[in-house]
Amino acid sequence: MEDLLIQNVEIWTLEDSRVIGRGWLTARKGKITSLGQGAPPPDLEAKTTIDGQGRLLLPGLVDCHTHLMEYATAEINHTQGKAQGMAAASNLLLALQSGIVATGEHHLGHPVLDMPMEKYKEILKATPLASAIAYGCCWLGFEPKILTSATRPGASFTEDVLTDEDYLLMAEASEFPGENLFLNYTCANAPLTAAPHAGDVTYDGEKLRHIIELFHSRGKAVGAHIEGDASARLFIEAGGDVIHHGHNLSPEMGVLMAEKGVSLVLTPVAGTSKRPTSPEETLAFYRQGVFLALASDAYIYPHPEADWISLPANRLAGPAEYLQIVGSTLRYFVEKGVEKSEALKLVTVNPRRLLRPGEEEAVLKPGRPADMILCDKLPALATEDPADIVLVITQGRVQVDKRV
Ligand SMILES: [Zn+2]
Repeated sequence: MEDLLIQNVEIWTLEDSRVIGRGWLTARKGKITSLGQGAPPPDLEAKTTIDGQGRLLLPGLVDCHTHLMEYATAEINHTQGKAQGMAAASNLLLALQSGIVATGEHHLGHPVLDMPMEKYKEILKATPLASAIAYGCCWLGFEPKILTSATRPGASFTEDVLTDEDYLLMAEASEFPGENLFLNYTCANAPLTAAPHAGDVTYDGEKLRHIIELFHSRGKAVGAHIEGDASARLFIEAGGDVIHHGHNLSPEMGVLMAEKGVSLVLTPVAGTSKRPTSPEETLAFYRQGVFLALASDAYIYPHPEADWISLPANRLAGPAEYLQIVGSTLRYFVEKGVEKSEALKLVTVNPRRLLRPGEEEAVLKPGRPADMILCDKLPALATEDPADIVLVITQGRVQVDKRV
């Protein structure tokens, strides 16, 4: 007996651009068990059967760079203490309702929020998302400059107080290479005028190499918040693994990233002091062979120069705006001849691979995770409205059903 049978659906497997025109799929114990064309075998039994009515079934969206559990709980929900945990779960629910089945969360320490590191994992475990969390430290480019760290939540420092023990704790606890380090001071969500040091370089090569070695000594890849060629080159040469944002990088860096196998998590709406990477620049990195994922950095104010995205500059963009954040880039890819399935990988299969490195590619295929969305139109490519994602399935169970 299967747990779930979905029939009468167009299946976008995202495996080699394979689309099953009208088919069916089954799941059991959180995994896909079988799929095929036409009607399901007549003897197939399932606890839950869904008639997809010709809709599209594809792997769930994955936003591998978010701050929904920490910074957003202050900026969007205005919570602290135990209420922060409630807000974190609530923000994750909104992501799920928007078709996002996994997020890449960050705990960077916060001057006020003092929720301990392990609590973030507990909250995540209680959700049906396949999210992962990265722990790191953050340099804020205010005057004076401020340092926060996941290892010392609820405090801020004006100078570097972190020891090897802090970095080892971050490394051991991190589940994926997120923004573990900031190679440039950030303006976060403050206006640039309030963060005069935003963009300045934080580490020298020797210190950076040492910290990266600490992460690697614990078998963990390292990710970093980066803008500009100088920081990107420093990071790549020091052995870093994943560049987050990577705004204002030249094609020369694309060559280097492809050559060294360094992945790039682009945030097309904002994230650093620089203009984000445009759809044209993103396609150029793709053609150079850089492993790419698109993410929101939610919640965040859109960068004034990100004119390929039509979101209001004065409103924080979050999971409900995810399709608007990635849509223009993905449509540009398709316009320039990239297969739709290939473009969709940048918001599904690729980011998931960064979050869960040990897992096999999360395409729709037997043995792979049954984390899927049922849509009226292709997300990002044909619609930017999360209302067109009518069913969200994770762990082989329907978690969100907008049909009723
Ligand atoms: Zn971020």
